[in-house]
Amino acid sequence: TDIQALLLSRIRDVPDHPEPGVMFKDITPLLADPAAFAALTDALAELTVRHGATKIVGLEARGFILGAPVAVRAGIGFVPVRKAGKLPGATLRQAYDLEYGSAEIEVHAEDLSASDRVMVVDDVLATGGTAEASLQLIRRAGAEVAGVSVLMELGFLGGRARLEPALAGAPLEALLQV
Ligand code: 5GP
Repeated sequence: TDIQALLLSRIRDVPDHPEPGVMFKDITPLLADPAAFAALTDALAELTVRHGATKIVGLEARGFILGAPVAVRAGIGFVPVRKAGKLPGATLRQAYDLEYGSAEIEVHAEDLSASDRVMVVDDVLATGGTAEASLQLIRRAGAEVAGVSVLMELGFLGGRARLEPALAGAPLEALLQV
């Protein structure tokens, strides 16, 4: 579509970032273009409303940039999932495996409840590890998963297959596929 072409035209390929052999998808040109950023916000908000979400969970850090305006547009609350050690209140913490080693993310336990349906928003789905851990946090908090919505899915990394069990039938929406 025209919107997909606009979004794709504002994503920059950066070779060998953050390490040799990785082609990094840089969304900062898209954020700097008000028409593209608005189109992205509208598209993600439409998915959020369509899937009946009552909260957005944004994944640090680019999921904050995208998720916050989507929450405002959709008229629902925003909940940050942060790298461990940043949130000041009582948290739930979830570890997940990286290619080398592991990482931990956290959410404020009181920000999600059993009456919430949560849409996870991030810029890029790569291996799916971060999104998978966020779905585990959402379920542990007692909330329901409305889905995962990303700007771009890097299909060759297999994130969709990794996420499938944690999604348990909820949708993975990607505006762009690479
Ligand atoms: P995953 O856990 O799916 O392997 O990694 C996803 C996380 O890393 C996301 O939060 C995403 O923002 C970031 N990420 C991985 N690869 C890229 C990339 O090429 N471009 C951008 N913008 N983010 C990436």
